[in-house]
Amino acid sequence: MLIDFIINFCILFTFAILTYIPFQNKLNVYIPSSKYTPFILGLLSGLTGCLLMLTAINITDVVIMDGRMAVIALSGVLGGPFAPIISGIIIGVFRLFMYGYSTSALIAGSSTIIVGLVIGVCSWKKTMTFQNVPYFFGYSIIQTSIVLGFLGSWKFETSLAIISFIIFSIVSFSIIFITLKQLSSLFEKIKHIEEISVTDYLTGLYNNRKFQEHTQNLIAKNEIFSLLLLDIDYFKKVNDTYGHPVGDEVLKELALRMKDTSKPFGGIVSRNGGEEFSILLPNTTDEKALEVSDLVRQSIEKKLFQISTGEKLDITTSGGISTFPQDAVTTHELYKLADEALYLAKTSGRNKVVHINQNILV
Ligand code: GH3
Ligand code: MG
Ligand code: MG
Repeated sequence: MLIDFIINFCILFTFAILTYIPFQNKLNVYIPSSKYTPFILGLLSGLTGCLLMLTAINITDVVIMDGRMAVIALSGVLGGPFAPIISGIIIGVFRLFMYGYSTSALIAGSSTIIVGLVIGVCSWKKTMTFQNVPYFFGYSIIQTSIVLGFLGSWKFETSLAIISFIIFSIVSFSIIFITLKQLSSLFEKIKHIEEISVTDYLTGLYNNRKFQEHTQNLIAKNEIFSLLLLDIDYFKKVNDTYGHPVGDEVLKELALRMKDTSKPFGGIVSRNGGEEFSILLPNTTDEKALEVSDLVRQSIEKKLFQISTGEKLDITTSGGISTFPQDAVTTHELYKLADEALYLAKTSGRNKVVHINQNILV
């Protein structure tokens, strides 16, 4: 009997891990469309339930026990209300005909279908999560124990078997539950680390590493795009006069304005260094890039920056632009040329944008 429990647990555990990893949608291994997830999960859970029944623990000729309830309950967490209903029906129908039709098969099969339906309908009202799934599972175990007791005519051996069934269910479900919760928090952490590894901590913009990746991707597409480098004019004076924290406030506000203004043009905004920013403008020619860059420059110049001391600062920026593929075809060269253009903007009076094709100057 013990070996049967172990086999059942192993199947249950394998099902939980194999369905959880692709369907939890926290790693980038999420393959099926979410539209079909409930049906795929319902089907997978149903088939696993059938497998569990084929390796079930036979208590008497008519009473068999296995981990099918855990499968039905877990399918609801990942697949929503439809998954337990589908799996309950598949498992229930299979139970009905597995050993040939009989009254006990009818009762046991119907009970499984009812469990699937009740869990499905209840989770419609209250979405199933890892927090509340133990209650759904608890309900299924209570109902199944009553049905097992009824089928076994409440004999002494049946009661003993029910107790072992309850212990098996609680232990196996707890191990799976704890494992999945641990995995879940691990995946959350990985996702968070992935996010912060590409984000600038102060402004929330992309950092230089992500900027490089975006530029490489645009180059790989081999379609025209422009790169704008933006640098605050006399920013050192802001820090010297008001202090570094106020300088940080200015950087944050500047980031917001850059994002807002470049958004309609598909701008990808990054903070490449201290007070140096960039905007990648996909499908943007040199002339259009100058227009967009000047809009960004104006959005900074036109409205004073309100700082926490209550004062309002007049901030301006200078910009340099280069365009792929006409000016350069590598990230390094494009950056270098945009930086040269920025230098021209600085040396020719600041608060302006310059394209490296010097004939276009705003
Ligand atoms: P220019 O018009 O020539 O660009 O003058 P500038 O003063 O802006 O140029 P400079 O490169 O001399 O100074 C940049 C300043 O940016 C120096 C540094 O203190 C400040 N800075 C760099 N990173 C940060 C940051 O994260 N926070 C704050 N508050 N200041 C920063
Ligand atoms: Mg600078
Ligand atoms: Mg500067």
